[in-house]
Amino acid sequence: MRCYRHPDRETGVSCSECGRGICPDCMRFAPVGIRCPEHSGEAQGARRVVQGVQKRSARNPGLVTKTLIGINVGIYLLQLAGGASMNANSGWIFEHFALFIERIDSSGAVVGLAEGEWYRLLTAAFLHYGPIHLAMNMLALWWIGRPLEDWLGPVRYLLLYLVAGIAGSAGALIASPDAVTVGASGAIFGILGAAIVLERQQTYVLGGSAITLLVVNLAFTFAVPGISIGGHLGGLAGGALAILALSQFGKRSAVYSRIDVVSLASIAAVGVLSVAVAYWKVRGYA
Ligand SMILES: [Zn+2]
Ligand SMILES: [Zn+2]
Repeated sequence: MRCYRHPDRETGVSCSECGRGICPDCMRFAPVGIRCPEHSGEAQGARRVVQGVQKRSARNPGLVTKTLIGINVGIYLLQLAGGASMNANSGWIFEHFALFIERIDSSGAVVGLAEGEWYRLLTAAFLHYGPIHLAMNMLALWWIGRPLEDWLGPVRYLLLYLVAGIAGSAGALIASPDAVTVGASGAIFGILGAAIVLERQQTYVLGGSAITLLVVNLAFTFAVPGISIGGHLGGLAGGALAILALSQFGKRSAVYSRIDVVSLASIAAVGVLSVAVAYWKVRGYA
């Protein structure tokens, strides 16, 4: 057995509350036995599990998630204000920031990734096809993004979100190179992918429900026509890979280790990899 905060340390002791392994540095001696830091206090219920990590974002809980939701909603409203229809699949913002390899825009110019507009890999994640698409993604972001932000802290969380968005774009290009893709779903599936890896590493960011949420969301992905399967799977892989890299593939804890240049670079590397995949796909397409 290994310490869940220090995966490189063997230990014979486990928390009497949650059963996870704890090394001598992490042991807390409670009247009811030896416990992990998260289970050493008197708090009960859901508070018990999160109190150990709340300090990371205690000053502004959920700030990054709220800001991301604000940006997504704001862009949609801007599109409406700019004269786009409810579906927001036309207009200046859509033509300039949606994901596609090559199109002719309303002014007759050739635009797209093939013209060197690589920023579309990221910006498409902030556009949506109408109020339902937007509302579903923002609800999902609020439900599963906020808890992950609490655990990872704002910096690693934001980086992971952006990287997963790019990975989702790369996935969409692979699965459907002729499509026009928009939406935060890739980034949100990235959050889910991260949560699944963290739960495998005994950090229960979504209360242990990550796999169930994935099954439900994948069922939606394959059942509803018109959903970007490649975008969802790409984001999922990107988020999972980012956490694996952050934990040095299980050698250290992705949540409890220090935030340093190496940890941020390992998340960013997944973004670089995703851009490389997209580049390869676009260049092969022309
Ligand atoms: Zn415990
Ligand atoms: Zn430890």
